[in-house]
Amino acid sequence: MQIPTVNDRKEHPLNIEKLLENPEKLLARRASRLPLTVAPPPADHPISFDSGHAFPGVLPDLTAEAEIALTAHRSETLQYAPRPGLPELREWIADYMRRDGVANASVEETFVSNGAKHALELVCRLLLEEGDAIVVTAPTYFTAIPIFKSFGVEFIEVSQDVEGLNVDELEQLLAERRRAGLRAPKFVYDVPDFHNPSGVTMSRERREALIALAEKCNMLILEDSPYRKVRFQGESLPALKALDRNDIVLTLGTFSKLLAPGLRVGWVSGPRDLLNRMIQLKSDGGSCPLTQRIILEFCNRGRLDTHIERVQQVYGSHRDRMVAAVRRELPEASFHIPQGGYYVWLTLPETIDGDVLAKSAAQKEVILIPGSKFFAATGGSSTGGKPPKNHVRLAFSHATPSEIDEGLQRLGQIYRTMR
Ligand code: PMP
Repeated sequence: MQIPTVNDRKEHPLNIEKLLENPEKLLARRASRLPLTVAPPPADHPISFDSGHAFPGVLPDLTAEAEIALTAHRSETLQYAPRPGLPELREWIADYMRRDGVANASVEETFVSNGAKHALELVCRLLLEEGDAIVVTAPTYFTAIPIFKSFGVEFIEVSQDVEGLNVDELEQLLAERRRAGLRAPKFVYDVPDFHNPSGVTMSRERREALIALAEKCNMLILEDSPYRKVRFQGESLPALKALDRNDIVLTLGTFSKLLAPGLRVGWVSGPRDLLNRMIQLKSDGGSCPLTQRIILEFCNRGRLDTHIERVQQVYGSHRDRMVAAVRRELPEASFHIPQGGYYVWLTLPETIDGDVLAKSAAQKEVILIPGSKFFAATGGSSTGGKPPKNHVRLAFSHATPSEIDEGLQRLGQIYRTMR
């Protein structure tokens, strides 16, 4: 008998192309809903306003910490780690949360993940069934959208203004749903500090109102706050978790924006009865102990505070450069000036299509994300059922100041041909 080779695959009755002719039969429902293509990596040396990459000049030198981790801590760093994370790192994070106003943060209520996105997925695995409803802002963090969608959720979209998520509107939407006999949402997902993409920070009044509403409606709050310390202007406001009296807030944190995204270490702070269950859904043999130890060494040597000051100073100057360049090159764009974070969210005249602008910009090697990618469903009640097209998000984190000027000049040229 002749054994089929890989080249015979097409003739063999069972091959992957055949199976994929009926994706809903082959794939889990969560995968069959996903688009068939993923964006290709950008061309060489484009001007990158798209991703939340760190500015290469602020990536810390971790050589000394790595050496200690691999010598003094070898038997820890080259073994499987405890699933909730290295105990010392959990202690450090709990202390960091207490210093940030979460008075009762404890080791038992802290667990380490492979970054905030991983933590977000674990929260979804813990809480969501197909058909559950969740609340998101319109626009919302675009990477969270496919994660939520893969769990088959219904989105309730709420608008934002300069004070953040519109809590009165949410209260009304929830009352309407109750009257219509529709499900109450499981949780509200929000980025209260320097929102991605809108750049808005939620006011203290709104934070308190959101917590009061969540308490009244039996919903949890999922606070995703990676940029919290990347504040270059104004006063820090209490984290939602710091205002939480009844343990209804789960907070996601990450070292991606504090230190370096490639480390892939983040955390969840929340009620221990939820975290203990979530840990059992974490199937990775423990987050990498080597990177956890490197981070601990960095923090224990007292380098983090100085590093954060530098991060704030660098991104503050990038923000200023971006704001000036947008005003110069796209004077018709309106936007909120963020006091921190990585992004500006532009609203262009209604005739301008952000998808077309982003496509044309890519041809000139300027990469940005069109606003349409940031709407989980229809964009909310005021959009007539279709997400608005006239937005783009510009990240000022990764590009150099002169790339910011050059990129905006190219964008301005394209924009003027579209008017
Ligand atoms: N949440 C938000 C709102 C973000 O902007 C980002 C980074 N782009 C993340 C989570 C991802 O963080 P991590 O690298 O820790 O997965």
